[in-house]
Amino acid sequence: MGFRVNAPPVSVVWWRQDLRLADHPALAAAVRRGAVIPVVVWNPAAEGGWAPGSASRWWWHHSLVRLDEALRRRGSRLVVRIGAAADVLPKICQETGATAVYWNRRYEPAAMAHDSHVKDRLKAVGLHAESFNGALLLEPWTVANQSGRPFQVFTPFWRKCLTQLPPPPPLAAPELIPAPERWPRSESLPALKLLPRKPWDGGLKAAWVPGEDGAHQALGAFGQGGWRGYTENRNRPDLPGTSRLSPHLHFGEITPRQIWAHLNDVAARAGVSDWQQQQFVTELGWREFSHHLLYHFPQTTDAPLRAEFGHFPWREDAVGLRLWQRGETGYPIVDAGMRELWATGWMHNRVRMIVASFLVKDLMLPWQAGARWFWDTLVDADLAQNTLGWQWSAGCGADAAPYFRIFNPVSQGEKFDPAGDYVRRWVPELARLPIPFLHAPWTASPAIRAAAGVVLGRGYPAPVVDHAQRRQAALDAFKLLRVRRESGAASG
Ligand SMILES: Cc1cc2nc3c(=O)[nH]c(=O)nc-3n(C[C@H](O)[C@H](O)[C@H](O)COP(=O)(O)OP(=O)(O)OC[C@H]3O[C@@H](n4cnc5c(N)ncnc54)[C@H](O)[C@@H]3O)c2cc1C
Repeated sequence: MGFRVNAPPVSVVWWRQDLRLADHPALAAAVRRGAVIPVVVWNPAAEGGWAPGSASRWWWHHSLVRLDEALRRRGSRLVVRIGAAADVLPKICQETGATAVYWNRRYEPAAMAHDSHVKDRLKAVGLHAESFNGALLLEPWTVANQSGRPFQVFTPFWRKCLTQLPPPPPLAAPELIPAPERWPRSESLPALKLLPRKPWDGGLKAAWVPGEDGAHQALGAFGQGGWRGYTENRNRPDLPGTSRLSPHLHFGEITPRQIWAHLNDVAARAGVSDWQQQQFVTELGWREFSHHLLYHFPQTTDAPLRAEFGHFPWREDAVGLRLWQRGETGYPIVDAGMRELWATGWMHNRVRMIVASFLVKDLMLPWQAGARWFWDTLVDADLAQNTLGWQWSAGCGADAAPYFRIFNPVSQGEKFDPAGDYVRRWVPELARLPIPFLHAPWTASPAIRAAAGVVLGRGYPAPVVDHAQRRQAALDAFKLLRVRRESGAASG
C-alpha cells in the first residue's frame, strides 16, 4: 500500500532518557515538520555499556506507562519495539513512510557510540537523522578552561558555566501531536518484562510517582520554599530537606532548563536576586560536572581517574560486602542508609557519602563494588553521577575528598541525625535505645541495652569492624600508595 502524495511528512521521535512531552526539542522539531510516530526501542544489551539495574527497570516501566497516557491525551500513542535501534528505526520508517528520525542526545560513552552508529545507519538509507540537547544546561564539549582543556575541579568549572548561562527558555509541550496515516505495530509495555517477577517493589511504589507529572509535583513541592531552606537542611537525612528530583532528572521527566526557569520565577516573585549562587543551583552544577567528566574521561566508570589508585590494596571480602548491602554492619547510620536504599530505591546524599566511605575505607572494598550495587538498587542510578560520587568518596576522582578524610560513622550520625529519627525509622530494632547510645549501641551498658530490647549479635549486629583500627589501616595503605607514587615519580 502506498502513501498519499500530499500527506504531511512523517517523523519518528525516538524516546530514551527523556520521558516527557514538555521541553522536548526532538518532539518539538517533529511536530513542526508534520505527523509524529513516538517510539521507544528496548534492547539495552545491544547498546553496550551498563544495562539498567532492577530499580531503574521498575522506573522505566511506570514512566513509559505515563508517557503513553500523556501521548494519548494529545491524539498520539507510544510505539514499543524490542530489538536493535539501528535495525528497528529504519524498519519503522519503511513501514510508515516516515523520512526523518529525531532524538535528544545522551552523553554516556557507550550510549554516544551507539547513537552515532544508529545515525550512520539511518543516513546510509537516505533518512534524515537529527539530535538535540534536551538533558543538560551545557553540553560537555561546550565548556573548557583557558587552555581549551576539560575541567577537573568543580569550582572553576561551575564558575565558567555560569558565564555561559542562563539556558534558553524551556519549550512548551505540544497541545496536539499529529498522528501518521498508518501506525506501525507495537509491543505491549508488559512485553518488555521490566517489572520484578517477585513483587519486591512495594516500597518503591509508596515512595515515588514516576513520570512527568510526578516530576513537576516534586518540583512544585520543593519550589514552594524548600529550596530556600536547602542550605541548612540538605545534610539532614531526618528532614525532607532536598528536592528528590534525581530519578526524574535521570529519566528526563524534567529538565534542568525547566528547573532553572521555575526557580527564576519563584525568586523573582520573592524578590531574591542572588538565587543562582544558592546551594541548590550549585548541586545542579555538580550534575553538569559529572557529565562533563564522564564525557572527557570515559574510562572512569571502572578505573580510577587518578591512576595511582589502580595499585590500592583493596580487600576481597564477600561476607563484608553482603553485610554492607543488607544494612547489617552494626553501624546504625550505615545500616539505616543501606536499608533506605533497599526499601525505596533512594538514599540521602549525606548518607551516600557515609556508606561509601564505610565500604572503601572501613571495609577496604573496591569502590567499583559499591558503584555496581548502587547501580542495581537506585531509582536514580546514573552512570555519570554515580561514577563521580564513588570516585569522590574513594578519593581517586576529580576534585575528590582527600583519601585521609575518613567519615566516622558515629559522629556523622550524631551530627546529621541528632534526634535519631532517621536511624529509628530504618533500623527499628534500635528504636527504644536512648539517643546518647543510638549511633553507637555497643557503648550502652548491658542494662540500658536490655531495657531497650537490644541484644547485640542477636537482632542487631555488633560492629563488623572496629572503626578506629580500620581507619588506621586505610591511612597506612594510602601512605604506601603515596610512597610508591613519589618513588615512581623520582625514579621515572
Ligand atoms: C556514592 C554516591 C553515589 C551517587 N550516585 C548517584 C546516582 O547514581 N544518581 C544521582 O542522580 N546522584 C547520585 N549521587 C549524587 C546525590 O547523592 C544525588 O543526586 C542526590 O542525593 C539526589 O537527591 P535529590 O534529588 O533530593 O538532590 P538535591 O539535593 O535536591 O539536588 C538536586 C539535584 O542536583 C543533582 N545533585 C545533587 N547532589 C549531587 C552530587 N553530589 N553529584 C551530582 N549531582 C548532584 C541531582 O541531579 C539532584 O537531583 C551520588 C552520590 C554519592 C556520594
